[in-house]
Amino acid sequence: MPQHKQKILQAVTITNNTILAEQVHLITLEKPFSFKAGQVIAVAMNADDEPRLYSIASSEQADQLSILFDIKPDGELTPPLSQVKKGDTIYISEPFGKFLCESKPATWIATGTGIAPFISLIESGKAEIIQLLHGARTIDKFFFQDTIEEYLGTDYLRFCTNEINSQTYKGRLTTYLKNTEELATNNKYYLCGSPQMVIDVREILISRGVPFDNIIAEIYF
Ligand SMILES: Cc1cc2nc3c(=O)[nH]c(=O)nc-3n(C[C@H](O)[C@H](O)[C@H](O)COP(=O)(O)OP(=O)(O)OC[C@H]3O[C@@H](n4cnc5c(N)ncnc54)[C@H](O)[C@@H]3O)c2cc1C
Repeated sequence: MPQHKQKILQAVTITNNTILAEQVHLITLEKPFSFKAGQVIAVAMNADDEPRLYSIASSEQADQLSILFDIKPDGELTPPLSQVKKGDTIYISEPFGKFLCESKPATWIATGTGIAPFISLIESGKAEIIQLLHGARTIDKFFFQDTIEEYLGTDYLRFCTNEINSQTYKGRLTTYLKNTEELATNNKYYLCGSPQMVIDVREILISRGVPFDNIIAEIYF
């Protein structure tokens, strides 16, 4: 989907490209600017390409930038982006965006690569008084789970639809949200992931008494 053509892009060097799971890459690149955890950058393979947006998936203090993405097989950017190697050049914008998740107490909700802004916030030391709910189809798609568990302990809940282990709930996080007796209706809810996840979760939260203005979403369309 064409996004943000007007963003000025600058050349940066790739420092690493890691496959975190099938079709999912974490690429690391040099960091030419500082940013606030939760922000995004526009990314392109060439300076005059139509860029796409990615949440920064590394801490404010790290000396490199990371982004986490899943490959859209018929997409324009993610197939070639997944092939980059150390030393290659790509083009990025300055950081921008308001998904800073500053209000507390809060519940953070992510599916798949939607965990990206939250790992940046967690590793930047901005995860006090929050609970994180993470949904995925398989265990290997709970990206950064060991790090998150270290920081959040029992405030980190994983919901897995197709597999189960001692750290996960079997089923969808939407089912949990519909049925849990512990839904904090006064909390702020920060959602990040696919449009369908945001629509479903927002509907459930509102039906359970969470004010519309307490729900803030970063949608990966
Ligand atoms: C604020 C924000 C933050 C984001 N952060 C992340 C992130 O951290 N990680 C991440 O993985 N993604 C993120 N995204 C999504 C990302 O920007 C891209 O949309 C995604 O990576 C796909 O890019 P692409 O160029 O490979 O695919 P595209 O070429 O954009 O195509 C994507 C899909 O849309 C379909 N499509 C393309 N054009 C059309 C059309 N005209 N009509 C109908 N369907 C069409 C294609 O078939 C394909 O399946 C974010 C999006 C936003 C808005």
